[in-house]
Amino acid sequence: MSEETQHGGLRTPIVAVLGHVDHGKTSLLDKIRGSTVIEGEAGAITQHIGATAVPLDVVGEVAGSLVDPSEFDLPGLLFIDTPGHHSFTTLRSRGGALADIAILVVDVNDGFQPQTEEAIKILADSQTPFVVAANKVDTIPGWQVHEDTPIQQTLDAQSDRVEQQFNEKLYEIIGELSDAGFTSDFYWRVQDFRSNVGVVPVSAMTGEGVPDLLAVLMGLAQRYMKEDMAIDVQGPGAGTVLEVKEERGFGTTLDVILYDGTVRADDTIVVGGVNGPIVTDVRALLKPRPLAEIRTESRFEKVDEIAAAAGVKIAAPDLDDAIAGAPVRAVRGRDLDDVIADVQEELAEVAVDTGEEGVVVKADTLGSLEAMANAMEEAEIPIMRAEVGDIAPRDVAMATTVDEEEYRAILGFNVDTLGDADDRAEQDDVQVFRSDVIYQLVEEYEGFVEDIERRQK
Ligand code: GDP
Repeated sequence: MSEETQHGGLRTPIVAVLGHVDHGKTSLLDKIRGSTVIEGEAGAITQHIGATAVPLDVVGEVAGSLVDPSEFDLPGLLFIDTPGHHSFTTLRSRGGALADIAILVVDVNDGFQPQTEEAIKILADSQTPFVVAANKVDTIPGWQVHEDTPIQQTLDAQSDRVEQQFNEKLYEIIGELSDAGFTSDFYWRVQDFRSNVGVVPVSAMTGEGVPDLLAVLMGLAQRYMKEDMAIDVQGPGAGTVLEVKEERGFGTTLDVILYDGTVRADDTIVVGGVNGPIVTDVRALLKPRPLAEIRTESRFEKVDEIAAAAGVKIAAPDLDDAIAGAPVRAVRGRDLDDVIADVQEELAEVAVDTGEEGVVVKADTLGSLEAMANAMEEAEIPIMRAEVGDIAPRDVAMATTVDEEEYRAILGFNVDTLGDADDRAEQDDVQVFRSDVIYQLVEEYEGFVEDIERRQK
C-alpha cells in the first residue's frame, strides 16, 4: 500500500496562496516550509518544483496542540509555491480551480488592495473555500513577539493598548470582506467555515499564528473533502503544468501539479503545447530530494511512479513547446486519440473566441494570456480571439476578417512571429504589436487607435 492510501483514501488537498504584492505570500510559504523542515525528519519534501508537500505528522508537530493527526483522513497539505505567477487564475483542473482551498494573505497595515480584490473575485467565482491570513501582526506598535506560537497565546501576552489596535485592524479586514460579499470573523469565533470566512492573525516573520493557520486549513480541507478528492491511485495521472524549465542533464522538463491518479516512469503522456497537444514518452520522473541531502547528491531523485496530489518534475523528449498552465495526461490504458481530444478540448476552453469584432491577442503562457485579457477588459479593448502561441500567418488572416480599421491588429505578449506573418501583415494592413510589457502593448494600441480617429476627423 502506498503511503497516501493509509489515510482513509482522501488525497492531499492542494492549497494556493493569494494576495496583493508585498503582503507576504512568499514569506508565509517560506515560514511554513522552514518550520516544517525543522520539525520533521522528512520535513517539507518538495522544493524547486512549484509545490511543497507537508505530511500530516509534520503539520501535527508544527501546529502542536491545535492539530491531532489521528482526527484526520488527510495525508497532509500540498502548497503551490508560485504566488507571483498568476498561478491560481490559470491553473485549472477540469472544470474548476486547481487548488482545493486557498489562503488569502492581507497585510494588516495595508488592508485590501487591487490584487486582494482580484483574488477574492477569483475565489468567489471558483467557489474555492479560503481563509484570510491577516499578516504582519508583529508590526503593530508595542507588539510582544512570541516566535512560532499559537496566536491566542501571543495575544494574551499583549498590553490592552496593543490588543485594541490589533482588534481595530482585524475589524477593518472583516469590514472589507463584508464589502466583497463575505461574512467573516476572527477564526476562533467561526462556527461554520462554509458560511463564514475565518480570519487568522499571523506573522510570516516570527511564525506567530502559523500553527493556527495550519489547523484551520486542515479543518477546512477535511470539511470540504468531496468525492473527487478521494484518491484514485490506480487511474492514469492528470495534472497541470506549472512551469516549463530547462534542467541540467535532463533537457526541457515540466514542473507539474498532479491532482489525480498516478504517473509512471514508463507512461506515454499528452501535454498541451503551443501548436496543440504534444504526445511523448516519460524519460524520467523526478522528485526533489530533502534539503539535507542536496549537498551531496543531485537535486533530484528518480522515482518509478508518483500519485496525486503531488508536485513532480517530468523529463521527456519534445517538451519545448509545452505551455505553463496547460493540462498533462497519462495515456495508460486509454485510447490515445481520446486523450489527445481531451487535452485539445481543455486548451480550447482557455482560448477565447468571442465571435465579436475585436483584436487578436497572442501570449506565451496561459498566465500571461489571462493577464492580457484582464488588461484589455480594463482598457475596454474588445477581443476577437485570444490564445497561447506565436503570431502565425493564420492570425493575420483572422485579423483581416474584421471591418473596423481599429481592430485590424494583433497584440503579442512575449511571442515571436512565425513564417511570413510579418510580411503578410504589412501587405494586408494589419498592425502587429509585440512587447513583453502588458501596459506598453495596451498603450501602443491606444496610440494607434487615436491616430485613426484623428485622421477620420
Ligand atoms: P509577496 O510579494 O506577497 O510574496 O510578499 P513577500 O513575502 O515578498 O513580503 C514582502 C515584504 O514584507 C518583505 O520585505 C518581507 O520581509 C515583509 N514581510 C512579510 N511578512 C512579514 C511579517 O509577517 N512581518 C513583517 N514585519 N514583515 C513581513
